[in-house]
Amino acid sequence: MTVKEKVWKRFYPDEIPQTLEYPDKPLPHFLEEAAKDYPDREAVHFMGKRLSYRQLLKDVYRLARALKKRGVRRGDRVSLMLANSPQSVISYYAVLMIGGVVVQTNPMYKDRELEHQLRDSGAETVICLDLVYPQLEKVRSRTPVKRVIVTGIKDYLPFPKNWLYPLKLKKEGVQVEVPYGEGIDAFSELLKKSSPQPVETEIASMDDLALLQYTGGTTGLAKGAMLTHRNTVVNVVQCSAWLHKAERGKEKVLGLVPFFHVYGMTVVMNFSIYMGATMILLPRFNAEDTLKAIDKERPTLFPGAPTIYVALINHPDTAKYDLSSIEACISGSAPLPLMVQEKFEKMTGGRLVEGYGLTESSPVTHANPIWGKRKNGSIGLPWPDTDCRIVNPDTGEEQPPGEPGLLQVRGPQVMKGYWNRDEETAKALKDGWLNTGDIATTDDEGYFYIMDRQKDMIIAGGFNIYPREVEEVLYDHPRVQEAAVIGVPDPYRGENVKAFIVPKPGESLTEKEMDRYCREKLANYKVPRLYEFREELPKTTVGKILKRVLAEEEKKGKAEA
Ligand code: AMP
Repeated sequence: MTVKEKVWKRFYPDEIPQTLEYPDKPLPHFLEEAAKDYPDREAVHFMGKRLSYRQLLKDVYRLARALKKRGVRRGDRVSLMLANSPQSVISYYAVLMIGGVVVQTNPMYKDRELEHQLRDSGAETVICLDLVYPQLEKVRSRTPVKRVIVTGIKDYLPFPKNWLYPLKLKKEGVQVEVPYGEGIDAFSELLKKSSPQPVETEIASMDDLALLQYTGGTTGLAKGAMLTHRNTVVNVVQCSAWLHKAERGKEKVLGLVPFFHVYGMTVVMNFSIYMGATMILLPRFNAEDTLKAIDKERPTLFPGAPTIYVALINHPDTAKYDLSSIEACISGSAPLPLMVQEKFEKMTGGRLVEGYGLTESSPVTHANPIWGKRKNGSIGLPWPDTDCRIVNPDTGEEQPPGEPGLLQVRGPQVMKGYWNRDEETAKALKDGWLNTGDIATTDDEGYFYIMDRQKDMIIAGGFNIYPREVEEVLYDHPRVQEAAVIGVPDPYRGENVKAFIVPKPGESLTEKEMDRYCREKLANYKVPRLYEFREELPKTTVGKILKRVLAEEEKKGKAEA
């Protein structure tokens, strides 16, 4: 242990051990335990539909059998293209139970994003929402997909008339015709025909892969972080140590953050199952519905992202709702402004602290103690068994205390590597140390602060966007000569995507046209909100576009305006 690590550990909160015992049991084991201990407790509550732990486990067994019957074997990748719903929990645990590897797929993905992920992961089976089926069908012939299982929200619910579908469909209540038949099954039919008898888990070791979780990492190219059963179980156990006042069998967790992102998956879904908690799911964030759900369902824990808390504190009718059930919240994904923390705590009476993590570490590595000392602007202390160091980005040498540098983390929640990408893995992981791509510093009590990002990444509304991916789409446009994408500050979304474009000689382009074009090729959250058309872009002598200059010009322009 380095001297610095010893100093950090001296300031560790008394109630949380620095090192923990981790059970040698994979995730589905905890679902079976919860169903044994709390068979009648609500596991999932989704828009009026309530599923007990007993029912949930039975549905998991049913789907696990059906998947096996359709040829899914240990180690096979299965893509889940689902919004938070009972089906997303059932599918996730069923795939894991038979030793499969879950590939969480954002249901907002358009052609190129989806095709890349399916080809790269080699997923032959997809479980998707009926409403995104047409999107899958468009790319299917160019992917290894052989079997599709389709589910609709109404498999678990009657479709309420006034309810906007999560995926921003143009028309309310749009129905999609799915050509069920050879290779395309209805989720609900599979469950009906399948037995709920227990299925033997086929997980051979805790080091078996549980997930390929796609992320841009530090380089922007979407690649699958290989997370094992051990990685995910460890992070859930670490989370329960942090939330040490939470009681097994008693909590209710508000599940707004998407399960297709590792944060929602670990801190909401897997943590809830581990704790025998009730998950209150809302398929899409909407401030009004969230306030109503808190008032009515009385959640105690509420993991979220800054944009979610911002929207809630700014809602005009917060005083109309009883929000006093909220006890603890961890905010992740982006910096949490102090004003938001204070207002939210006043509004609910609960505690809201900032945490930090990344896909490659399953994800959480740091958080402020919830009931202990927390610090403004800090991501808090490293979680138990998580080592951290700050190195000089150029030399790789450890920085003197207090000097900012590249944050590296090491711990049992850190991934095995990237799927089929040895070179990228070697860059990200050295001797167990994961390069986070974030610039950080510490204070003399061992609290960490994120100062900047070394990696080229924009965080807008809690979503990560890799400029390189957006630029590739812009360069594909027949009349674009050059393009550069940066993040510009936005008071609500944290950052916005801005594109600088140089049209080809003699050509002109409009914002409207580019917007339409980008919406066809990119998930909505990646589409630039702002455009600027220029005759040229600032460059180095070797022709590299100077994005820093664009960002500085942007800042200056704002200051002068
Ligand atoms: P992801 O892999 O999608 O979980 O994104 C991880 C990245 O999000 C980190 O490497 C950071 O750049 C950023 N991030 C996460 N939490 C925070 C935070 N509390 N403050 C600033 N950036 C954060």
